[in-house]
Amino acid sequence: MSTIFSKIIAGELPADVVYEDDKALAFRDIHPVAPTHVLVIPKREIVNIGESVEDDAELLGHLMIVAGRVAKLENLTDFRVVTNSGAGAGQSVFHLHLHVIGGRSLSWPPG
Ligand code: AMP
Repeated sequence: MSTIFSKIIAGELPADVVYEDDKALAFRDIHPVAPTHVLVIPKREIVNIGESVEDDAELLGHLMIVAGRVAKLENLTDFRVVTNSGAGAGQSVFHLHLHVIGGRSLSWPPG
């Protein structure tokens, strides 16, 4: 089932893109929770980490590399990468995304 992020990938909805390659797209979250809040998504649809399979391993690894690249582009040395898997964990868009969050001090554990 396609989501709002499929429309962003297809260029049917606008996004503030900070990085793109053939497998991944990174764009600013529309409701940022920190000075830097970027979402890194795979262009191929994966629902979430809980639904991922062995064949997704290379793509999942690539997304982590992209998250680090985004942090560098945003001049972040300290940042958090988090992904919500399932509604009970706070997932609202069911197309896998990594939140790259930084630019302020971050407490632990998250809520
Ligand atoms: P999650 O709640 O973990 O599924 O995260 C989904 C994120 O997508 C939220 O932080 C939303 O603010 C963000 N979001 C939803 N629609 C858009 C959009 N059109 N452009 C950018 N970010 C969005």
